[in-house]
Parts: sequence; C-alpha cells; structure tokens
Amino acid sequence: MANFENSLSFAQIKDSKDLLKDFRKEFYIPQKNGKDTIYFCGNSLGLQAKNVRTEIEKELDKWAKLGVEGHFEGQNAWLSYHRLLTKTSAELVGAKPEEVVLMNNLTSNLHLLLISFYQPKGTKYKVLMEGGAFPSDQYAVESQVRLRGFDPENAIVEIFPRPNEFVLRTEDILQKIEEIGENLALVFFGGVNYYTGQAFDMQAISKKTHQFGAKVGFDLAHAIGNISLDLHAWRVDFAVWCTYKYLNSGAGGVGGAFVNKKYAEQTDLQRLAGWWGHKEEERFQMKKGFKPMYGAEGWQLSNAAILSMASHKASLELFERAKMENLIAKSQELTAYLEFLIEDFNASQQKINLKIITPKNPKQRGAQLSLLVENGKNLFHFLTENGMVVDWREPNVIRLAPVPLYNSFEDIFRFYEVLKKF
Ligand SMILES: *Cc1c(COP(=O)(O)O)cnc(C)c1O
Repeated sequence: MANFENSLSFAQIKDSKDLLKDFRKEFYIPQKNGKDTIYFCGNSLGLQAKNVRTEIEKELDKWAKLGVEGHFEGQNAWLSYHRLLTKTSAELVGAKPEEVVLMNNLTSNLHLLLISFYQPKGTKYKVLMEGGAFPSDQYAVESQVRLRGFDPENAIVEIFPRPNEFVLRTEDILQKIEEIGENLALVFFGGVNYYTGQAFDMQAISKKTHQFGAKVGFDLAHAIGNISLDLHAWRVDFAVWCTYKYLNSGAGGVGGAFVNKKYAEQTDLQRLAGWWGHKEEERFQMKKGFKPMYGAEGWQLSNAAILSMASHKASLELFERAKMENLIAKSQELTAYLEFLIEDFNASQQKINLKIITPKNPKQRGAQLSLLVENGKNLFHFLTENGMVVDWREPNVIRLAPVPLYNSFEDIFRFYEVLKKF
C-alpha cells in the first residue's frame, strides 16, 4: 500500500487529491457540542444526503395535488416507482435488471426467498451458515427449518474460524460443503460478516455449493455499496440486502432482493404471493389465480412504500455519480490508512492493544476494521465523549467504518489524535 505518514498535513494532502472529496458536502454530518463528529458508523446507519428531503417532498407534493391519481399520473407515477431504483441497484450487485427488485425489508425478503429456495427433501435438508451470523439471519433460517419440519440443531451447520483465528478460511468453507455433501440443501452466508468485516469469496462458495445440487444465497447488508459484487456471473441463486447502511437510505429504508434469472419464468417455484407480484397487465382485473410477473418482481407482495423509495432514489443518485469503482479505490486507501495509524498507536504505548481482527487483504474486506479490545468499553466511552461515532459489539469489539462517500483522511487522523489521548 501507499507510504503513509502520521501527520495532519499528510492527511490533508490526501484529501486535497481525492477525486470524491466534494461528496462529503452533500451530506449532513451529525454534530456534538457544535462540532462535526467523526462518523465511523456508516456500516450501521449511513448519513443523510441533502437531496433526500427534495425527493421525499416531490412525492408529498404529488400526493397533496393528485391524491389517488398519483399512482398513474405526474412524473414518476407510483405504479412503477420501484423501477426507478432497479438499474443502479442491479449495477451495485452485478445483476441483470430483471433479477432485482426493491421491496419490504431485508428480513422479510429473506423469509420470502427462503420459502422458494430452501426446499428440503428426504435426506437433502441441511443448511450451512457462517458461525455467529447476524441474529436476524439465524432466527430466519431457524424458523424456516422448523416450518419444514426439521430440527435446527440437526439441520443447521455452522462453521467457525480455527482456534486462535478470527476469520474463516475459504478452503475450510469449501471443505465443509464437501463434508455435508448430498445432505446439503442450502448455503446461506453474509457477503461481508457484520462482526469481523470479512468479505467472503462468494464465487467460490457458489461454485462448490452447486456441485452438490444445493442452492446458495447471500445477505448483502454489509456488502452492497461497500465491495464489488457480481451475483449473476457468480451464479448466486438469491440475495437480500438493506439500504440504510452503506447505501444511506435512512432508518428502516426499503430492502432489496436478487433472484437469479434462471428462475425468472419458473412459475411453479413455491412462493408466498401477493397482488403486486401478479402479472401487471392483469393485476387490476382482480381475478382468482396467481400468475407471477417475470423475474424478481414476481416476488413482490404489496404496493410500494413510496416515501422510503424516494429517499433511496436520492441516495442511489450519489452512487451513480461517484461510481462504485472510485468508491472502492478510495475505501481501500482510507481503511489502509486507519490500519496504519492503529498499528502506529499500538507500537507507541503499552497500555492498551487494539487487535485488528478484520483480514489484512483488501480483497477480503471493505470499509471496516473491527478491533478486539480487552476491557474495551472504557475506550469506547472515551471515544464517544470526544466526538467519535463508533460502535460497540458485545463482548469486546469496536467497529470502525471509514466510508468513502463522506469520510476523509483527516477524519482518520483526528481519530488517531483522540486515541493518543486515551
Ligand atoms: C443490518 C442487518 C440486518 C437487518 O435486517 P432488517 O430486516 O433490515 O432489520 C440483517 N442482516 C444483516 C447481516 C445485517 O447486517
């Protein structure tokens, strides 16, 4: 990586050369004691872009002026409003537009797609997951396994890192898939683990899973808008995501779903249906007998939550302009700079050690470093009192996410300065 220096002037020079530096001005930076905080929590809730209010107000105006006609009239009629989000979302996950739909929330979408893609039969019923997956993923899979009449204790296989290691080795994941073999019905992983920040080799996992005739799905909550994704080429069967982390669509913002094109016309696939997934031409005939729309849109249940989509439309426009490859290039530098300064801090004192458990290889991580800190709660409180917004995950991890859209090299240096006062 680049030659870094632990000085403010170095950080400021890096910022002045940053291609994306102007995007920071398009966001509201949360304040503490009248000053900008150093916000490293964009992996939990992304910041509000200033264009969000404008997009929401457009829809409020439309509603005020047109009432029900807003479904069909005016610019961006609500009937097809969700499609305004499809193109950029598809680009972000590496999908064809017909493979993507924005709807509901992450966990609801996960349930809908598990109904279709977890199809246990006879001895082929096991699910492989990363050990310590995000709780909502664990609960969703557990309850689906029970729904199909299996015992989660027996049906769900979790894989953990080797002793004294913090992240999973790809070879171990592939080996576990082979071990489960013909009993495997589904592999479901995060794209990036929320706790360690490890990005998994989704292509290798997908390929190995398919060798055993099982399905593969990913939770992209921490991956979308963060790392490079190519779901279609990787032949992933399904994926789900939320949009309020790196994608900045606001708390509880609309979720997303990917369904591989090979299922686009498979109308006999088991699914839970609703009128918004019914063939559009016939939807308003209100007739008996569900006929799904082509592609991912056929999984829709309800008419779209326009206000949350308006917010997401605004946030996606920034990604269109910034371009994911630029964001990734900056993200890798920011994260490496943070890593450099934390290592510098560790070497400069003996009071406390911040052990970075996120992989060092830039291909195995995004904009996040997770620090394992013995008795780290004190440090966490100290950082918070000093205007840093970071997060604490039990039992002993502090997560830091320097987000390329709005964080700067100077933010990282200021964080280091505070750290040195601890
Ligand atoms: C944030 C997150 C969720 C949140 O689920 P919601 O349904 O949006 O509340 C789920 N899974 C993972 C891995 C997450 O990081």
